[in-house]
Amino acid sequence: MTQNKSIVLMCTCGDTLKLDYQFMKTRLTQMPQVDSVEICRLLCQEEGLDKIRDAVHRAEGRVVIAACTSQKIRPRIEMALARHELNSSQIHYVNIREHSAWVHPDAEEATRKSVDMIRGAVKVSELSRSMETLTKKVPSHVTVIGGGIAGIESALSLEQLGYEVTLIELTERLGGHVIELPIVAPTGRSGAEILASRLNAISSSKKIHVRTKTRVKYIEGEMGNFTVYYESDNGVEDTMKTSAVVLAMGFKEFKPTALDEYRYGKNPDVITQLELSKMLSGGRLQRVSDGGPVKEIVMIQCVGSRAEDYKRDCSKLCCTFAIDNALEIIKKHPGTHVRIVYMDIRVPFENEEIYRESRQMGVDYIRGRVSMIWEQQGKTHLRFYDSLLNTYFESTPDLVVLSSAILPADGVSELAQSLGFAVEYDGHVKELYGKLRRNETRRRGVVAVGSVTRPQFVFESVVDAQAGALIIHNELQGGTIERMARGAILNTDDCVGCSLCAQQCPRGVPLMIEQKNAETTTKRTTENGDDKEEKILFKASIDTLNCHACGVCQSLCPSAATQLSFLTNEQLWGQIEATLEGAGQDYPITLCFYCEECAVSTIDIVGTMRYEYAANTRLIPVPCAGRVSVIDILKAFEHGASTVMIASCEKDRCHIGGTGNEIAQTQVDVAKDILSAIGWEPERVDMFRMFSAEPERFIKAVQEMVRRAKELGPTPVHVGTAGKWMEARS
Ligand code: SF4
Ligand code: SF4
Repeated sequence: MTQNKSIVLMCTCGDTLKLDYQFMKTRLTQMPQVDSVEICRLLCQEEGLDKIRDAVHRAEGRVVIAACTSQKIRPRIEMALARHELNSSQIHYVNIREHSAWVHPDAEEATRKSVDMIRGAVKVSELSRSMETLTKKVPSHVTVIGGGIAGIESALSLEQLGYEVTLIELTERLGGHVIELPIVAPTGRSGAEILASRLNAISSSKKIHVRTKTRVKYIEGEMGNFTVYYESDNGVEDTMKTSAVVLAMGFKEFKPTALDEYRYGKNPDVITQLELSKMLSGGRLQRVSDGGPVKEIVMIQCVGSRAEDYKRDCSKLCCTFAIDNALEIIKKHPGTHVRIVYMDIRVPFENEEIYRESRQMGVDYIRGRVSMIWEQQGKTHLRFYDSLLNTYFESTPDLVVLSSAILPADGVSELAQSLGFAVEYDGHVKELYGKLRRNETRRRGVVAVGSVTRPQFVFESVVDAQAGALIIHNELQGGTIERMARGAILNTDDCVGCSLCAQQCPRGVPLMIEQKNAETTTKRTTENGDDKEEKILFKASIDTLNCHACGVCQSLCPSAATQLSFLTNEQLWGQIEATLEGAGQDYPITLCFYCEECAVSTIDIVGTMRYEYAANTRLIPVPCAGRVSVIDILKAFEHGASTVMIASCEKDRCHIGGTGNEIAQTQVDVAKDILSAIGWEPERVDMFRMFSAEPERFIKAVQEMVRRAKELGPTPVHVGTAGKWMEARS
């Protein structure tokens, strides 16, 4: 077969699609990049899969499949090829069913659109390269930071998966807060009992190495090759190499010394809920001031939580902590009167049971707020408002217990910063994507488990820790990372060291490497407008095996040094040109780049629901909206698009790591500015965000862009003048 030619296989979906296949075949066969075109009845069935295998053989991998949604057909085809040890990395998919035949009742129009989109895929296929599976050996070692329940469970889970683990704890013992809980709902067991077997397993393990009284200062590197910088309490600093990191630093309890009305820190008989837990788990209940007996306790909920100045949200755990302690007191110290002053009692899951039990056992719940605490004649006085009775009451408790807010542990944001990812507004570690990538962080190979991400109950922390261990195992595969090299490839010679990729990569993959003997220079424009040659002191380095293949670095790189192995600039530009071949004054086209994660599902659903929209639309998939650059958008106008739209994931829902869609927005904004500057209408380009199942939103967006395309028509630019719009206009 002539080099770089592709075989096109078109599926009729059991002869159900109203498309003119013979016309399509004739048109596509005319393309010099096409070897042959075959029409098949059911490509997804055995007979079709045989044809695909045969085509992959004959075309040395370059096959274009025009069928239904790749979300359904691709996994099936890949499995079928893998069974025969055939490489599927050069197969390109065009959805002529949901994206064309099912949404455009006019068969002629749907046929025209299908041909254009297949033509685009053929151009991508022409320049495609076979991607091989690469293997990298990495140390089978993981560092777990934090020796509470989440850290302990992480270490044990990782050990069971075969990893060597170093468990680092800031204090002098393992167990975190849990070891000090007298009872853990709904288990009925104490924290110490829950931890006992786990602590035994850790001390008898040969693969888990515990370092207490040790603080991790910062971490650098990438998955498979992190360096952990740590310091012991006597000031000795050291480093350790590790392949992955588990952040399990738990939480700290808010100490409300600044909230004067509660007298915490001034009156010793005002304590926090966890301070009471510690007292109870030590078998004691006494006034702190003089060790006297405790007969009357008032607990105050939501201290520092649900408050704008401290923690905006509910701390989730404190109601359960309070009820657990109240029950423990009533059972072990009968005759003690416990009142809980609350705004709302929030006990999820089975914890509702202990709430009910506590009411039956005589815990007094008062809906209201404490208005004042003061000391008088050696006694603590407290005034509270009961909102159900609309009355103020006073009492003289022996202990006032504050259910204080649950905050992230100290040092979390510093560590996150050293790893290059953001924390939530309240300082908890931000997970990559709450829906699909829980426990993952922006830095590949670093997971966050337990209360470091949000307040978590014991059983949630345990589940989190196990999930985190599996995520790491999935990545490290026991120390041999084996993955298809489908991602960004960097040509170091072309890198000008701007670090845009390192700053903006949603997964923190590119590293900037110092060029010790910097020889290469780049031209920079000084403030005076003079050009100056400067040495390139840093250059990027990208490990393709760590890359998530979004293409954000590619769309930002000013020197095209980094490009996706499966969608280079040349490939996408070729696709744009071929897809828009039929565009013109009499046929204004809206070109839609869509993200292959969220937007694709929405667009597929539009097809499944048989919603109709204008056929003078052409769709091009991209791995993430962030892959589309200003140049790509301008290329579309150069080749005749009247309007361009990007269909991306919703805000904060970018599947790659929360920033791809924001980068796309910036590219669209810049494109709008350029269009304005050269006198074209900025509304020719727009970005539309959508969740994965919002067909109406896509329909609305596409109709709007089609309306604008009809109104504006193609731009006056001529093919071949990309980058010279100013001249073209004048
Ligand atoms: S964006 Fe491009 S030029 Fe800039 S550092 Fe990264 S690879 Fe190098
Ligand atoms: S393709 Fe995306 S994940 Fe990979 S290095 Fe570039 S920006 Fe990072």
